[in-house]
Amino acid sequence: MADRRAFLSVSAAAAVAGPLLGDSEPAAAGDRARPRPQAPDRVLRDVLREIDPARIERTVRRLAAFHTRHTLSVQDDPERGIGAARDWIFEQMQGYAAASGGRMTVERQSFVQPVSSRIPEPTTITNVIATLRGDTAPDRIYVLTGHYDSRVTDVMDATSYAPGADDDASGVAVAMELARVLATRRTEATLVFAAVAGEEQGLYGSAHLAQAYRDAGADVQGMFSNDIVGTGDAHDGSRPDPRTVRLFVEGVPTSETAQQATVRQSVGGENDGPSRQLGRFVRDVAANPQTGMDVRVIWRRDRYLRGSDHISFLQRGYPAARFTEPRENFRLQHQDVRVEDGVQYGDLPEFCDFRYIARVARVNAAALWSLAQAPGTPKGVVIDTRQLTNATTLRWQRGTEPDLAGYQVLWRETTSPDWTHVADVGDVDTVTVDISKDNVFFGVRAVDRDGHRSPVAAPLPSG
Ligand SMILES: [Zn+2]
Repeated sequence: MADRRAFLSVSAAAAVAGPLLGDSEPAAAGDRARPRPQAPDRVLRDVLREIDPARIERTVRRLAAFHTRHTLSVQDDPERGIGAARDWIFEQMQGYAAASGGRMTVERQSFVQPVSSRIPEPTTITNVIATLRGDTAPDRIYVLTGHYDSRVTDVMDATSYAPGADDDASGVAVAMELARVLATRRTEATLVFAAVAGEEQGLYGSAHLAQAYRDAGADVQGMFSNDIVGTGDAHDGSRPDPRTVRLFVEGVPTSETAQQATVRQSVGGENDGPSRQLGRFVRDVAANPQTGMDVRVIWRRDRYLRGSDHISFLQRGYPAARFTEPRENFRLQHQDVRVEDGVQYGDLPEFCDFRYIARVARVNAAALWSLAQAPGTPKGVVIDTRQLTNATTLRWQRGTEPDLAGYQVLWRETTSPDWTHVADVGDVDTVTVDISKDNVFFGVRAVDRDGHRSPVAAPLPSG
């Protein structure tokens, strides 16, 4: 059996190449260097080009035309209400799946939500879910959602005109467009594109979806809620920001147990939870000229007073994050459609920028494709703490991906927001680095033969 241990002498290299944390790139970095963004591969560049703003516009306008998609609205009228919207989304998704060679399946995941907050009587809630089964790692899953329910000023008003164009036909349009474009591609891991309901009443649809994965023991390694991704122009006189999307990522995990908190406090892991690593990954693969976007990562779970479907996944221990537009106009959300003192209120399609939504879809495509084609996030990563030493030994479980090439160790000063150093350590499952674990943060990621990298896993103390 091959030797799966490596030794990395960083301080010796640094003495030759200059200070580790200087501003200039070391001239002779050898097997260690500054982390670089991951450029889109050839297939991903094709995918990004195929994302079509005109289709996204048709989706948003069609969804807005159901009059209301309120969770408590009528479910058996073919023209109006959430039932009509549900059936239309299902038919569209089935059409995309027809081009997938049987790899994409579409289901209506229905359940009855009992009487609960904002649900006055037992109500059937339905998520429409398109699952693109992976070729080589089908049990590893990444989920994208938009919510197709809508609302007006009174969250219990199920009959008034509630076009919900930005909130959240825009996110549903992202999910549907990516289902369409990716249905014809083979992915290594499984991708899920879901239109969920019950969001405005209390995240009920996504809670059911996340719980179903939890009950099945599913290995969901990343989830993104696209909620209010309609425009970079807040229509409030502020300067438009059409090349930015925000990504909200929590620090301390929502699902953290008391025991996990004790470990986190001892190692200073507040900024290294799995969702933070997912946020770093998205910037790394999706903020580039091919998507035409910058990803403004925000280190909080969500905006003040607001939430979205990623929280359902965070509560069940899955890494998750939320995309949303750079600056919101609250006159255009959760409002009765009306004109007051010459000012238009309400979530109308005319306030959406469909090319902006297409760019947000490209960011999501870059993130999902890069996750699905890379090895999974390394598991069982520990930092050896059995004895006091100024060196650092990291261990992990070697992945089973057929195209796995090896691993990289990353590190940064404890005060640095993002990884500043990376070193290839080869196809090993143990590495000793001559840097003290007391002074920096370490992480480990896997790399395949095409250069796709996994998200980083932060080590736990081996105990
Ligand atoms: Zn929303």
